[in-house]
Amino acid sequence: MRYRSTRGIVDAAAPDFSDILLSGLAGDGGLYLPQHWPHIPRETLTAWRSLSYADLAAEVISLFTEGSIDRETLRNMARDVYGKFDHAAVTPLVEVEDGLFSLELFHGPTLAFKDMAMQMLGRLFEYVLKQRNRHVTIVGATSGDTGSAAIEAFRGREHVSIIILHPHNRTSEVQRRQMTTVLDDNVHNIAVEGDFDTCQDMVKAMFADEAFRTECSLSAVNSINWARIAAQIPYYIRAALALGGPDRPVSFAVPTGNFGNILAAWAASQMGVPVEHLCVGSNRNDILTRFLLNNDMTMRAVEPSLSPSMDIQVSSNFERLLFEMLGRDPDRCRAIMGEFRQTGCMAVPHDAWEQIGKIFNGAALDDAQTSAAMQRIYKQSHYLADPHTAIGLEAGRKFREAGVPMVAAATAHPAKFPDAVKAATGIHPPLPPHLADLFEREERYEVLPNDLARVKEAVRAHKAG
Ligand SMILES: *Cc1c(COP(=O)(O)O)cnc(C)c1O
Repeated sequence: MRYRSTRGIVDAAAPDFSDILLSGLAGDGGLYLPQHWPHIPRETLTAWRSLSYADLAAEVISLFTEGSIDRETLRNMARDVYGKFDHAAVTPLVEVEDGLFSLELFHGPTLAFKDMAMQMLGRLFEYVLKQRNRHVTIVGATSGDTGSAAIEAFRGREHVSIIILHPHNRTSEVQRRQMTTVLDDNVHNIAVEGDFDTCQDMVKAMFADEAFRTECSLSAVNSINWARIAAQIPYYIRAALALGGPDRPVSFAVPTGNFGNILAAWAASQMGVPVEHLCVGSNRNDILTRFLLNNDMTMRAVEPSLSPSMDIQVSSNFERLLFEMLGRDPDRCRAIMGEFRQTGCMAVPHDAWEQIGKIFNGAALDDAQTSAAMQRIYKQSHYLADPHTAIGLEAGRKFREAGVPMVAAATAHPAKFPDAVKAATGIHPPLPPHLADLFEREERYEVLPNDLARVKEAVRAHKAG
């Protein structure tokens, strides 16, 4: 499988899966997509109903790695990765209300759906780096969830060093400890005396410094990496097959930030899985729901909420959907994205917006509505939902249609957000056994001032190779 950028022409030297895995962003600033969508025949989908999660994941991902990584290798990786999840079904479906299902994606090591893809990414990186005899230094900034998922995925992996910046004293203790108690030699946590934006700006500055980037072989594993999207497609296919697909359609509701997770659901529909509707759930940072309602994609300042993993200003992966809706026209896509960057307002052509509206709808919940949803779900169904999951379930409830199962993505374990859960339901959700001693474990991290030169020095000291 060859890939193309949303902002560039298709050329003969198009990158393959291994290339785009390591590079993440395309050189022209665009995002990678497969040159064509693989189609899964109906009989194949039906036959896949009997596969385990790991084997299904290997089948689906192999459609995107053709020519780079074979199916057998993927199957071994997937069996190893998903075998360590703490639920035998890996992504169990729970019927919370009549026709409304919770697709639990939080049974991985860090209790959030990011493990689903990130765990595979760790194996894929190691495999390709060994094959190419290369080393990379993964650098990232986190406000909590992404950093811990990345650290868990890359700990102990050969050919990789991982350095994660977090804002000192500004993450929850659970989030910090999930990162800082990982003591493998290739893992380095830096607490920066600043906020999340300080950390993110430092990472951007390091990547923008070409000499430094080359010297340290910097690499990123953020949510625009196509491999992450690819590894999120299998659970949508599995849920659809469990609920009668491909013989009847299903709908999905997804609590959304960077638009990566819901894009994977859309990708499943492109590949031949019957999907009726896709519902975006947002918090008060509602740029996507404003867009879906009124074609108003205007950036605003980020406001903190009960669902911090969705506190975003811009949904980076939206560019991929836009590109498709523009008939894969890279010139128009580049122009629209360039203007968005300058003006803070994305002018999506009316026909593209209408087309998107045929598939997508959106609901936004503020914090009070999120708490009320958590409370109602617990009272009516005895189901504990974290704030992100509650937003997904509520969006799904709003857009449920007769005869079409509605599957809401449950993106975090309730124990990841114990205070919000306790306040809404009165129940304190306990950490699962594998994390029960988190507060007794040894921590290791260095605290550095808000000084780019000092942070670069630390990254250089820990670089891979
Ligand atoms: C990252 C995250 C999201 C948002 O996912 P996107 O792919 O960025 O849309 C939602 N919920 C939780 C718990 C997350 O960690």
